[in-house]
Parts: sequence; structure tokens; C-alpha cells
Amino acid sequence: MKYKNLFSTLDLKFTTLRNRIVMGSMHTGLEDIYQGIDRLAKFYEERSKGGVGLIITGGFAPNFSGRVSPFASQLSYKWQLNKHKKITNAVHMHGGKIALQILHSGRYGYHPFNTAPSSIKAPIGMFKPKALSSRGVQKTIRDYSNCAFLAQQAGYDGIEVMGSEGYLINEFLVSKTNKRKDIWGGEYENRMQLPIQIIKSIRKKVGENFIIIYRLSMLDLIKNGSNWEEIVLLGKEIKKAGATIINTGIGWHEARIPTIGSMVPPGAFSWVSKKFKEEVKIPIIATNRINTPEIAEDILSKGHSDLISMARPLLADPYLPIKAKENKENEINICIACNQACLDHIFQRKLVSCLVNPKACHESFYKHSNHGKKKIGVVGAGPAGLAFAVEAAKLGHTIFLYEKENQIGGQFNLAKKIPGKEGYDSTIKYFTEQITKRSIKLHLGADVSVQLLQEQNFDEIVIATGVFPRELQIDGINHKKVKSYLSLLTDNTSLGKRVAIIGAGGIGFDTALYLLNKNIEQNNDKKIDQFLKEWNIDQSLSTRGGLLEYKSKKKKPEKEIYLLQRSNKKMGSTLGKTTGWIHRETLNNGNVQMINNVKYTKIDDQGLHIKINDKTKLLAVDHIIICAGQTPNQTLYLKLKEHGLKSHLIGGALSSDKLDAKIAIKQAFDLAYSI
Ligand code: FAD
Ligand code: SF4
Repeated sequence: MKYKNLFSTLDLKFTTLRNRIVMGSMHTGLEDIYQGIDRLAKFYEERSKGGVGLIITGGFAPNFSGRVSPFASQLSYKWQLNKHKKITNAVHMHGGKIALQILHSGRYGYHPFNTAPSSIKAPIGMFKPKALSSRGVQKTIRDYSNCAFLAQQAGYDGIEVMGSEGYLINEFLVSKTNKRKDIWGGEYENRMQLPIQIIKSIRKKVGENFIIIYRLSMLDLIKNGSNWEEIVLLGKEIKKAGATIINTGIGWHEARIPTIGSMVPPGAFSWVSKKFKEEVKIPIIATNRINTPEIAEDILSKGHSDLISMARPLLADPYLPIKAKENKENEINICIACNQACLDHIFQRKLVSCLVNPKACHESFYKHSNHGKKKIGVVGAGPAGLAFAVEAAKLGHTIFLYEKENQIGGQFNLAKKIPGKEGYDSTIKYFTEQITKRSIKLHLGADVSVQLLQEQNFDEIVIATGVFPRELQIDGINHKKVKSYLSLLTDNTSLGKRVAIIGAGGIGFDTALYLLNKNIEQNNDKKIDQFLKEWNIDQSLSTRGGLLEYKSKKKKPEKEIYLLQRSNKKMGSTLGKTTGWIHRETLNNGNVQMINNVKYTKIDDQGLHIKINDKTKLLAVDHIIICAGQTPNQTLYLKLKEHGLKSHLIGGALSSDKLDAKIAIKQAFDLAYSI
């Protein structure tokens, strides 16, 4: 078998995991909403059916003060068991195993009743926490063991104690957040007692035959975090206290280092698990940006860990394990690490889903309406047209897909050229495979006419023709210095040393990243090395928190780049909450000059003439790239309408307002299931 290590069983003595794939904990939002548990059961059932070995649920607080937000999930009472039994039964029906994560949010709790070792507000927190009293600490330990005991009663195969990412347990461990004078503060031996006592008390309560996972922060990525000796000592003590498995935690939430964004190379942190595994003899889970079976197998075969955590990849494709096992990896819908429908949704207090798989967490919503099998013509093979074609074909319709270019993918062919977005190519590859598998009749190089669509006598026509770049009215806009992002990224046009970008939305930022031309390494190991150096991560693990002394990351730029926007809002305010700050930081480090509140007055041989706060300025640039938004391409749709032919619009062709691939693909799914 190709993935020999990934699909070997793991014997834990009292129970066996069917393979080495763990679905890492993800809060979905379903935990907290009315009747969300039924949907959550369906969500986990689908993943168990897809072959995952062990699922770890989103975090449940052991008591009220530990909740992430006022109405967030908690497991403390017997009356809550029935709803959890729905989840465990659904998972067990398909041979998978499931552990409940116990998470006390500490000072990150988004409510005024949050508690922590000391009353120190988190830099990303809203509320200053109350310091737990000594009795409060004892009660918290009892609450953990009570929660674990209830989980066992509900049929879970185990629990995971969340001891990383900067939540309560991490806050006890680190002196900068633990200023206590009692037995829970002071020396490290005291500070580490909280997790040790939690694990001991859980083991005592649940007996020997129950999985206890401890998620241990192996790389805090904050100043004055734990050092390696402390981390190893903690690991040994946690094992002694009764843990079955240790999971790798990377980075506190307040750390200013990307840990899972698309700019993080796949498998970038497995070396940390490896170092830990050399010190503590217990099954170890490697985490963060492991998104394909190839990378997972590589990590296991190199002995970096015993298990692999894949969280978002199983949002993107619940059947990843089975597909890999059956050597159908080309059929896997791969997570592109965009965060747009998962983590960003958490911050927007929306239900989690997935850009490439809108069914995630909405499993029961996509039911086939029985309108019969139809012959459907789809025009445009960008994300919208492709997603529609594939989903409709899966439902039994006959699909004719027309694309005017000689390749499928639409704007994703441009996106994949941006440093950090190379993985977007995997979505195009997935669709390519599906077109063959679903016998979709693909016509490339087909600039479709009304006549062709009439002649084919389709039952339904779907127009997914995307967008046109928006044209600007500036004096001199036709000057030879001016180019659109489209021509720049399509033709790889070479530019002069000084470049101004008009428009600082997603594409403007991406264009600046593209122009920074960072000489990205192609080999993944070299890419990891480059990434770790760029973000000052200490690969020797000899410094506290795993961060090297801050050294300016600013480099002498190859190009002088200006990123300009008309509005006076903060630059990058439209970018995703979890990734926007990283893009801003990267451009800052590349010395890109980001200027808002700009009026464009003229373009001529001298360059771009602008006004900032009514002060006139000349940017003596060689080229000006226009990234000023897009307008829907409805040319064909309107012609069809003139001829009395009805059609459905999706994606950019429907609306370019706030358009992204998440919206385009979701519209495609919704239409496929309603047509
Ligand atoms: P398109 O992708 O524009 O596809 C339309 C297709 O229709 C094209 O292939 C076109 O050739 C074809 N077509 C047009 N007219 C005809 C015709 N008459 N006959 C046949 N075919 C026709 N979105 C995100 O969500 N996340 C990102 O990180 C992201 N990064 C991006 C980076 C860049 C550099 C760019 C340019 C875009 C990015 N986007 C991103 C935007 C995203 O790619 C678009 O929102 C998405 O592609 C829109 O999908 P669509 O299918 O509606 O349109
Ligand atoms: Fe992955 Fe993006 Fe889907 Fe999240 S939304 S699971 S990051 S593809």
C-alpha cells in the first residue's frame, strides 16, 4: 500500500485506532446553537464514514468561567449526556473513534466572568480576567475530571485536555501570565502542577481504559514563553500522570507568527514533534498545515510523529482517508489553507464551513430535489462553473461545460501564481479529475454563442462567465505605463523598478506580494527553512518561546512598490481577519509603501500624480498596475435574454460585489441542489 504508515493501526493496549489520521479539534459553531447537536452528529458521522481514525471534538468548557464566550459550549451536567450520545453513536456506527476536547479559555474568554492565574488582560482579549483563588484552582481541577467522566458516560472514547494556544493551562505555565504567590505560582515546578494534577485527577476518575490526550504547547512563539527543558519536563510528567497520547501545540493565539495560513509551507512544524518524540516516549501527534496524505506519510515515515492531525483538510474533504487508502488521492478536494470559511467565520461569529466544500457543517442542507435528470449547459469553467458542473453531474445530470480559454480554472490560474497561494492549483487539479470521473463534456477554447446554446436545446443554462477588471477614469489611463493585474499575472510582464498599484483590496495585496518576488524555494524542505528564518523561529529551540531575538525582517527591496487606496480606512481592512495582518506584515517587511486616502489626478511620462490630504505628489514610477475591482461579465447572459432564453447566473457573472471564490462556489452548490 502506498501510505503504509498512515494506514497502520495504533495499538493503545486497551483500544486500537484503525489508522494514524486524527481529525484535530475545530470549533464549528454548531456546538452553541439551537438543535446544533443533530447537525454536529451528522458532521462527525460523515468524517467517520470517510475513514478517519480518531476525531477530536471542538472545545467544551469544564465550567462556566472557562467558556470561550457567554453562550459557548460546556459539559458539566448529567442532563447534557443525551445530546452527546447522538454524536458518539453516529461516529461509532462507522468504526471511528471520538474524543471530547476539554478547553478552559482562561484570559481569552470573551466574557466578563473569565478567570486566569493572574489578573492580566490578554493583548487580544476584551476582558481583564479575575485571578483564580487557590480553592478556585482546586475546583477547576475537579471540573476537568467531572467533564471527562461525563464524556466517558456519553460514550466518548477519550478526551483531549487543551494545554496549548495560550489558554488557561498555558497561562499557568508561563511566568509572564502567572504571577501567583501560592503553590500554583513561582518556580516552574509549581507552575506546571495545574496540568499534572488535571491529568492525574482525570485518570483516577475514568480508570485505565480511556484515551487521555494532552495538547502540549511545544512552541509558544511568544516572548518569554516556555523553554525546551520546561516543555520536555512537562511532557514526562504528563505521561507519568496518566496521559495516553501527546498532541503538538504550536503558537499562542496572541503570537504574531503565522502557524496555519497558506503562506506556511505544508508540514512546517513537524520537526518540533520530532524533537519532542526523541525525549518523551509516548505516542505523539504532529499538527499544523498537514493537508495531503503524501505529506502525512512523509512525516510518519521520517519518524517525526506517530499520528497526524488533519483538521481543516477534513472540512474540505471528509473522505480524504478512504480516498488515500484506495489510492484515489487525485480525487481528494484539498484544503488550500485560505481560512476564509473556517477560521474567519469563527471570528465573524458565523458557522464554520469550507471554501472548497460548502457542505461542511451543512451536511443535512444539501438534499437532492427530485426535478428529474436534465441536460445542462454551463458556460465558464472558473470556480463557480466548475463547482456547479461537478455537483450537478454527481446528482445525475448530463453536463456540457464550455470554457473560452484553453484551460479550466478561471481566476484561480492567476491566484496560484501568488507566493503562498501555489496550493490553489490543487483545486484546479481536483476539478480536472472530477470532469473525467463524472463524464462531463468539456469544450475548451469555446467562446460560446447564443446560436450554439439554442441548437443544443438544453433544459437549463448556467452562466458562470466571471468578471471584467474595472476600468478607471483617470487622465492618462491609456498611457503605456498602465497595466491591469490581469495582463500582469497572465503574461508575466516584466516591470520597471518602481511600481504603483492602484487599489488595495485582495488582488492589490496579492499583486504587491507577487511583485516582491521573494525567490520562493520550490523544494518543500527548503521552503520550510526559508519560512522559519523569515519569521525568526528558533530551530534550535534554545530560546524561550522558540523565538529568536527580534531582528528586523526588513530587507532592501528589489523594487520600489507603492500600494495605494482611495478610502481612508486601514490598509487591508477588507482582507480576512486571520490572514490580513500577515499580508500587511509581509508587505511592511518588504518595504512596500502603503498609502490610503489617495486621489489619482493624472498619469503621464513622469509617472502617477496623486493627492494625499489635498497635497499634490508625483510618484515617479515606471509602471502602474490597476487593481480597482471588477464588474460582472454578463455579455452572454444579456444576449440570451434578448433571444428569450432563460439562464442562471452564478459567481462573478452574477455580482462582483465582495466576490470571492467562497461565494462563487457556494452559489454553485446551492444552484446544483435546487435545479
Ligand atoms: P472566473 O474565475 O473569472 O471564471 C470565469 C470563467 O469564464 C473564465 O475561465 C473565463 O475564461 C470564462 N468565460 C468568460 N466568458 C466566456 C464565454 N463567453 N464563453 C466561455 N467561457 C467564458 N478568491 C478567494 O476566495 N480567495 C483568494 O485567495 C483569491 N485570490 C485571488 C487572487 C488573484 C490574483 C485573483 C485574480 C483572484 C483571486 N480570488 C480569490 C478571486 C477568485 O478567484 C474569484 O472570485 C473566482 O475565481 C470567481 O469565480 P467565477 O467562476 O465566478 O469567475
Ligand atoms: Fe481549508 Fe479554506 Fe476550507 Fe478552511 S475554508 S478548510 S482553509 S479550504
